[in-house]
Amino acid sequence: MTCPNCSREVPDAEFCANCGHPLRGERTKRGFSAAPNESLHVPRIVSTLFPHLPEQDMASFRIALVGGLVVVVALAILRLFPLALVAAAVLVPLITVLYVIDVDVYEDEPLRVIAFTAAWGVVGGLLVGVLTRAIAPAGGTGSRTLVQAVVLPAISVAVMLGGPLVLLPYRKFNDVLDGATFGATAAVTFAGAVVLANAFSLFSAGFRPLGQIGSWVALVLTLGVARPVLFAGLIGSAAGALWLRYRAPARDRRALGLMGNPVVAVALALAGAIVAALIQIKLPVWVGLVLLAVLAAASMVWLRVVIHVGLREEASEEGLGEEMVCANCHRPTPAANFCTRCGMSMLALPKARPGGTT
Ligand SMILES: [Zn+2]
Ligand SMILES: [Zn+2]
Repeated sequence: MTCPNCSREVPDAEFCANCGHPLRGERTKRGFSAAPNESLHVPRIVSTLFPHLPEQDMASFRIALVGGLVVVVALAILRLFPLALVAAAVLVPLITVLYVIDVDVYEDEPLRVIAFTAAWGVVGGLLVGVLTRAIAPAGGTGSRTLVQAVVLPAISVAVMLGGPLVLLPYRKFNDVLDGATFGATAAVTFAGAVVLANAFSLFSAGFRPLGQIGSWVALVLTLGVARPVLFAGLIGSAAGALWLRYRAPARDRRALGLMGNPVVAVALALAGAIVAALIQIKLPVWVGLVLLAVLAAASMVWLRVVIHVGLREEASEEGLGEEMVCANCHRPTPAANFCTRCGMSMLALPKARPGGTT
């Protein structure tokens, strides 16, 4: 039959093998290419940060994330503040590492690339964390705000993007999804390391935590989930935009429009980091948490669009391949750009990526 979306002649199935458009049934609106059961513009954390997961594995990652947050909050309520801070710092980076191991995305470069990206984030985060402590007390209120709300976020964005940029020239990692994964991984490990650097110097200096338990709960939620997710969205999207423009085998390098312009994307990531810093400096912690959560949700939608457009534009021009079993829905489908049974992009499937990645 002819697909109404891409006008190609494709097998009569639930989804178009070429573009992933739903061909049958009541569903006419297309879902997120890396998780076709979800709609594109909904800020789901797990399917956005971990797009290679088959949909049935996403549940266990959601449980891990929520369970981890419960532990972090419980530690704060029990007044075990140093432990709560450490747990908040490592939660999202740890789940990210588990994801990378679980899906084995870079099977021919086993973990080396991701280890590099994560190590870059950790070292960069520790250095920026130490720098934050070192320059925080200097100057009057005005210059201190300038440093904390503009200079440090700018350094942070530059450091977080720096790791992925080292990998940009490698032909091997040529998907938008690669760029987005490197960006998000560097961002979450960076965010965690900054928290650790600050926490250690805070507590080794004999800091005795005062204040309401409620404020601590808001603080650990801010540091444990809102900030890492926001940074992952901002840096993952900016890196994805860079990959689409300079690296990906995309049909249309300008498919993201203005948001895909690398200068605009990096400026937007920087603006997000500056607004986040201002929110944290100027507003009460609960208000700040709510606003950061809204920003983080917006950054997740941005990253989803970048990934979705990337997967669509990188779809190959080749015809259908041999029959295979989809790693997402486990039903037989011809090897193509999209599974004809569940609509998942085969570029977003773990392993067995058609066409190879080299
Ligand atoms: Zn189509
Ligand atoms: Zn499938």
